[in-house]
Amino acid sequence: SKPIVAIVGRPNVGKSTLFNVLAGEMISIVKDTPGVTRDRIYADCTWLNSRFTLIDTGGIEPDTKDIILSQMREQAEIAISTADVIIFITDVRQGLVDSDAKVADMLRRSGKPVVLVVNKVDSFAKFMPDVYEFYNLGIGDPVPVSAASRLGIGDLLDEVVKHF
Ligand code: GDP
Ligand code: MG
Repeated sequence: SKPIVAIVGRPNVGKSTLFNVLAGEMISIVKDTPGVTRDRIYADCTWLNSRFTLIDTGGIEPDTKDIILSQMREQAEIAISTADVIIFITDVRQGLVDSDAKVADMLRRSGKPVVLVVNKVDSFAKFMPDVYEFYNLGIGDPVPVSAASRLGIGDLLDEVVKHF
């Protein structure tokens, strides 16, 4: 059967926006406030000769720090147990935060292939210098994208399908 790719990341980093871009349809609800992704959303995706099932692990997203972290751990565990490749998405505007580092540790220890995405890089000239700090997560080269502006999406998909 088709490989499964799961999107994991903090509330509001752009998981649902990226999901919709990759799925080519507006399936997942995007909103300024966290907490609006319906529970686990699936889509069939194709890139070049590869087909895969994409999951937005968003769910009902909390907004207090402790609950965000515990839910991210839960999402990461679901992704680790069900996905063949995990897209871990972060936000260049907010920079690297503590919960990113904690979830990155879980993902690294799992041994599952992880593609580290840095979203909201709407201008490469302006934001690329801020992308480099994400190397500190220790889960590989950050792939800069702008889900909203559809920048870097081809490069991201190339990285994902390499792991199939
Ligand atoms: P989720 O909570 O991780 O699913 O995040 P959403 O996809 O709902 O997006 C949260 C907010 O970030 C929304 O206001 C989006 O429009 C915005 N957003 C998503 N991707 C980008 C991007 O590439 N650039 C910018 N500037 N905003 C983005
Ligand atoms: Mg969402």
